[in-house]
Amino acid sequence: MSCVFCRIVRGDEPAQVVHEDEHTVAFLNLVQATRGHTLVVPRAHHRDLGDVPLDVAERVMRTSAEVARRLTGALKAAGRVARRAGGDHPRLVTICTLLYRSI
Ligand SMILES: [Zn+2]
Repeated sequence: MSCVFCRIVRGDEPAQVVHEDEHTVAFLNLVQATRGHTLVVPRAHHRDLGDVPLDVAERVMRTSAEVARRLTGALKAAGRVARRAGGDHPRLVTICTLLYRSI
């Protein structure tokens, strides 16, 4: 049995993919904490940062930074936050949450 993130990576679950490459996939979170709320995962399943090879961790962080910068510009956000998910996610996931100034 695979997790929902692996099913998204394989294309077995619908997702709004905003970036994908040989090593990573980035897609909009179903529940948008803020507009552009994006999850970045390595193509291979890794439990957490202690489980992931360093070259894969580097790819995930690079994609997270690139996606956060592109979305910040495209959505005219005031800033961004990136963090690794924990808790209920038994898989390495980086979350990019965009911050907006209230008008
Ligand atoms: Zn998985």
